[in-house]
Amino acid sequence: MVERARFAPSPTGPLHIGGVRTALFNYLIAKKSGGSFILRIEDTDSKRTVSGAEKHIIDSLKWLGLKFDEGPVKQSERKSLYTKSVASLIKKGLAYYAFDTADELDQARKNSGGDFKYNFTTRKSLANSFSLGEEETKRRVESGRFVVRMIVPEKKIINVVDQVRGSLNFNSEELEDKIILKSDGMPTYHLANVVDDNEMKITSVIRGEEWLSSLPSHVLLYEHFGWDPPKFYHLPLILKSSGAGKLSKRDAEEQGHPVFAVNWEDSKGFKEAGFSPEGLVNYLALLGWSNSSDREKYSLDELVQEFNDGDINKSGARFDFKKALWVNHLHMKSFSAEKLLSLSEESSLQLNEKYTPEKSIEIIDLVKERLNTSHDLGRELAVFLRQPKEYDLAVIEKIGRELAFDILNFCKLKESIMSNPKDLKEELMAFGSKNEISFGNIMKTLRLCLVGSLSGPDLFKIIEIIGPEETLHRIESLTNKI
Ligand code: GLU
Repeated sequence: MVERARFAPSPTGPLHIGGVRTALFNYLIAKKSGGSFILRIEDTDSKRTVSGAEKHIIDSLKWLGLKFDEGPVKQSERKSLYTKSVASLIKKGLAYYAFDTADELDQARKNSGGDFKYNFTTRKSLANSFSLGEEETKRRVESGRFVVRMIVPEKKIINVVDQVRGSLNFNSEELEDKIILKSDGMPTYHLANVVDDNEMKITSVIRGEEWLSSLPSHVLLYEHFGWDPPKFYHLPLILKSSGAGKLSKRDAEEQGHPVFAVNWEDSKGFKEAGFSPEGLVNYLALLGWSNSSDREKYSLDELVQEFNDGDINKSGARFDFKKALWVNHLHMKSFSAEKLLSLSEESSLQLNEKYTPEKSIEIIDLVKERLNTSHDLGRELAVFLRQPKEYDLAVIEKIGRELAFDILNFCKLKESIMSNPKDLKEELMAFGSKNEISFGNIMKTLRLCLVGSLSGPDLFKIIEIIGPEETLHRIESLTNKI
């Protein structure tokens, strides 16, 4: 079946990675079938609309490469469609006008002892077109102060198959006659959502599990209209990394990781934290999808091929920033040096100042194994750009100062062969065995001179790239420090 799936966020705030994952699963299900991924902005609640949120949603999808085929379709521009649909339900007797004020509803709630439901049990005792006569209803409707509610039938078991959770039964007695048209003439989420999914010929509704409780009302609306419902997928929550509960901006901040794809106000996004869109998309796909293989690295196109909607998890998935970094690392190391350079303008400029383009590429290829994010480039390239600012002198303490001096002095004599790392290595080994100094200690001392710590890429490669003069200069510097 060629799917039409829509991502339908409300612009009531920035797009959180939970929303990004919903968008991604919509994209994957649509594209796997050769169908369309559609963006719909559910902006009927103007009071809750946050300025800039729609732009944030679109910027995030663009950065992630989740290209929508249609949209954005904006609900605020489709008011007449909803009014017409509501009128058709009123005509069929499946929706009705209600005039209760907030105070009256409060009173009814109080009188019921806290278990109030606006439904077949209370409908007739409240201010609506059931309890008021035709004449009075007409008068009140004309005065313009009303809402429209949908009828929820008495004692009905509503059965619906959710693609993630299987067959579900809901009892209509648990439901309320939900408002479908508000007093400002705008539809509620429920009405607009169902009307649009039908009108836009949506075949699969893929959304977060927080909408599961609305599902029976939606299914009833489909029945009222006489429309076939689409397939439904309610995706499990993304849980915070520490303990139970939904991942929130606050938890993310506490744990020191982003929660948005791209930045929002002063909150850095994954983009600004140096993630690649490929890495983030890949990690989010693995969150909530249990692919049967051990494979971890997928491009977006590969995900489209391999994703199987039958393997979406039922239970919540814990957000794991370390794993996200790891998955991003798998992408970083697979990128070409040119692409990595394009991710960090600063590093690219610094390398260009010192090295030819060919050498810069060779350097990037040497360090890319060591990158989790593009921000790591600065740290990893430092060894090729300048002498260490600091030294981990504990290394010298462990080796012993005398010994370190001997090693450094020997290295100083070797300028002539520094340009030939293979010979240098042999000489160092020979020096070690002659003087009973372990090769490990020789390498550690030399690495400390060049890098300032015991990390970094292949030592002889570093020497080859920075050249004999700079190597000697760094040996000199450490000698003067210890
Ligand atoms: N507007 C809802 C949201 O913000 C969409 C729910 C749905 O996809 O039906 O999440």
